[in-house]
Amino acid sequence: MMNGQQYRESLRRLKPRVYFMGEQIESVVDHPATIPHVNAAAKIYDMANDPQFEELCTATSHLTGQKVNRFTHIHQSTDDLVKKVKMLRAIGQQTGSCFQRCVGFDALNAVYQVSYELDQAKGTNYHQRFLEYLKMIQERDLMPSGAMTDPKGDRSLSPSQQADPDLYVRVVDRKGDGIVVRGAKAHITGSVNSHEHIVMPTAALGEGEKDYAVCFAVPVDAPGVFHIFGRQTNDDRKCAACAIDVGNPEFGIVGGEALVVFEDVFVPWERVFLCGEAEFAYPLVERFATFHRQNYGGCKTGLADVLIGAAAAVADVQGTSRSAHIREKIAEMIHLNETLYCGSIACSSQGYKTPSGAYFADPLLANVTKQNVTRFIYEIARLAQDITGGVLATLPSEQDLKDPVLGKYVEKYFKAVAEVPTEHRIRLIRLIEAMTCGTALVESMHGAGSPQAMRIMIQRQANLEHKKRLARKLAGIS
Ligand code: SF4
Ligand code: FE
Repeated sequence: MMNGQQYRESLRRLKPRVYFMGEQIESVVDHPATIPHVNAAAKIYDMANDPQFEELCTATSHLTGQKVNRFTHIHQSTDDLVKKVKMLRAIGQQTGSCFQRCVGFDALNAVYQVSYELDQAKGTNYHQRFLEYLKMIQERDLMPSGAMTDPKGDRSLSPSQQADPDLYVRVVDRKGDGIVVRGAKAHITGSVNSHEHIVMPTAALGEGEKDYAVCFAVPVDAPGVFHIFGRQTNDDRKCAACAIDVGNPEFGIVGGEALVVFEDVFVPWERVFLCGEAEFAYPLVERFATFHRQNYGGCKTGLADVLIGAAAAVADVQGTSRSAHIREKIAEMIHLNETLYCGSIACSSQGYKTPSGAYFADPLLANVTKQNVTRFIYEIARLAQDITGGVLATLPSEQDLKDPVLGKYVEKYFKAVAEVPTEHRIRLIRLIEAMTCGTALVESMHGAGSPQAMRIMIQRQANLEHKKRLARKLAGIS
């Protein structure tokens, strides 16, 4: 297993094309826009090597019997699923930000299960290919991204009906030794600091859409692959002069998302795990989406632990922590947060074995959990802002705090409780600002799919007919 420093060195050996603000980033390990995201992923590598977290952050490979980082492991039991959630919460508590590696972890598990079922149904050999790929990922402790979301163009049209056929990733050529793919994947978390991309379809596909039914893996620096890194709220504060104002200087506020473009990229057959079997596109989407929705009562509750702590600490610093309404609001934040955790633990412990032998989280409960995250995290953030006060939006800059003339006025007039330095209050407020204003919250809404995607899966999974039968029986209707 790699540690954080070895992970950084491994990234330096890759040469992905990454663009940000009209310029190419030479090294994501050294560029201010991407350093926090590299740090957050590196934290995972370090925690796996830390005896305190080893039990959660490592597992035994069912393929080789070797100890591996849990993020490369295939779930062998409901205990593995529960440990995943506990691990995500533990890492979220350390980073206060998205640490990205779960997306590829979920892609590995989804492709593992679906490639097996596909081979059983069609007599293909995708699963065997995938096992070789998985072994390589485990042995080298690599971080693949999970690239699912296509740009989608006109949402009222299916992939094959779009005016521009590239708006969903598709196969444009089939050769003796592989395929050529074209298109893009949008909002891909951790993509610029991953080693590999695992690309999956994003929607159910019809018979006439075989070219869009494609799943494959490529290195991030494969010819024809490039990345356009997204802007984030206050990203111009990612600089040495804004170590306080950026809020969470070490780990940032989100996962670092990018548009990943595939411009006629060659993929050898041994890295192709679905090609043309359109009816297996939806099962892959459902498997991946459920795994990622399982996570959100893990990672987001870890982040909210930090936010609740920040709100309580700011109340201490401002002299409000003994007010009944502040205590009530903190209790409400804790209640909401633990409710989310309950959902993730429940869908994991109610998971089940799939035909491949690997375990899957309960899809109804996982979707309910993520749906709750789209609401409760906003409510937790709202309460944190309420407790903090309007100063959240009006604080002077770090430069003014440190200014030889103005600094003493910022010190004097932003001081609250006398014995606490003003800078401590400012640091807490900036952390709360980073965690509740802008891009960070949107991740709770749309990460792992938008709320309506959960609604659709909840309707599909809920067995309404069964509920109607229960009601008819008790109402005496035969
Ligand atoms: Fe992992 Fe959460 Fe980030 Fe998704 S949002 S990649 S589950 S930390
Ligand atoms: Fe996410």
